[in-house]
Amino acid sequence: MAGPKRKVYIKTFGCQMNVADSEQMALLLADEYVPTDRAEEADLYLINTCAIRRKAEEKVRSLLGSLQTLKQRRPRMLIGVGGCVAQQEGERLLAAAPHLDLVFGPHGVRRLPELVRKAVPGRRVVDIELSRGFPAQPQRHWVSGAFKTLVTIMQGCDNFCTYCVVPYVRGREYSRPSREIVAEVTDFLAAGGKEVTLLGQNVNSYGRGLAEDISFPELLRRIDALPGLARLRFATSHPRDLSKELTAAFGELPSLCEHLHLPVQSGSDRILEAMNRGYTRKEYLEKVAQLRRVCPDISLSTDIIVGFPGETEADFQQTLDLVAEAAFDQAFSFKYSPRPQTRAAALPGRVPGEVQAERLTRLQTLLNELTFNANQRLLGKVAEVLVEGTSKRSPEELCGRLRTNQVVNFSGSRELAGRLVRLQLTEAHPHSLKGTQVDDSSLPWPLAADLQAPQRRVTC
Ligand code: SF4
Repeated sequence: MAGPKRKVYIKTFGCQMNVADSEQMALLLADEYVPTDRAEEADLYLINTCAIRRKAEEKVRSLLGSLQTLKQRRPRMLIGVGGCVAQQEGERLLAAAPHLDLVFGPHGVRRLPELVRKAVPGRRVVDIELSRGFPAQPQRHWVSGAFKTLVTIMQGCDNFCTYCVVPYVRGREYSRPSREIVAEVTDFLAAGGKEVTLLGQNVNSYGRGLAEDISFPELLRRIDALPGLARLRFATSHPRDLSKELTAAFGELPSLCEHLHLPVQSGSDRILEAMNRGYTRKEYLEKVAQLRRVCPDISLSTDIIVGFPGETEADFQQTLDLVAEAAFDQAFSFKYSPRPQTRAAALPGRVPGEVQAERLTRLQTLLNELTFNANQRLLGKVAEVLVEGTSKRSPEELCGRLRTNQVVNFSGSRELAGRLVRLQLTEAHPHSLKGTQVDDSSLPWPLAADLQAPQRRVTC
């Protein structure tokens, strides 16, 4: 008879794609390992890394260094580094960390059980091969109470933005056949799931290279039509590929949440061109205006890089102007940092660190103001919230998200986790809201049509 399973601890850095990859690692290892959230009792310690910015990579290196002590205490514990830093560094990571047993890139995830079996103590393994095609996904078994899920619909990227390491570490773009995606979502909904987020580096180009003739909006329509789906989200979108058809979907599909993450990166045409983004500020702003016409309640979030090589004060001012005009509800902003292999790393005109820091502070002051304003505009409204669990700030409170993606904290029974409730929004804070339940019971699902997504019937 097989003995008890060993324990795996997975530390995840970076984006939702990495969160989905970590879930897949746990699934693939499930025959031999059970997940633990106590690193000190793990038999296998995996770090799933992000290489998008230098700071993210530094955090990984620092964690890896600190694991030396744990390895001394538990010499039979295996340590593996996966993801984008692993792909980028390969053997160099082994040289830098003698206590490291296994290095595997994003495409090595599919071979993880075999790699772990090979990496017995004293035998180190590296797998940074980039494969072709979308890999077969392990069968997911939904536990009761699972109410939201991430579903990967494509991987890799063909865009080669000049600052970005993704096409080098995650490889070329491959879409997943639609029947597999629909089957996975159907299973999730059959088990009582409510919210699905479709993931890919650039979901708008979903379908390219597939034998079937399907676009991303068509995939959204097929998923929206599945019975039981309350909320549909997706990330990430490239502004150049945001088509009229996709914009129109925000006015047509009841489950599609009124939120879009649309990374602009800069407000200066000169810098956008140097970044190889493939759109101008005017085109971006026109798309924003069109989205707001189709879906007046839409909440927009974005990513912005400050201090890209050659960025002048005038370029930066254009970014500030665009941010004010687009009136983003939420944003992630960063100082540019050169990444290995990328074209921008070799560009002249490096912006000094102190100038980058000063610009970032000015930008974040404006972004914080816009986020707070957006939260204040919601005051007094009654809105649907999907309850996610207890609040990070106070175990006495629950937290959930609006369809427009803002976090709302409120007092209520823990049994509401995973359910849709109606809250009156009573307090606006810089990065969250507070609410009170307007009735004792959670919302029945499916909702009555009049509670679903108001003001969404305009077309492009
Ligand atoms: S679209 Fe550009 S920024 Fe996004 S992953 Fe691809 S190369 Fe990177």
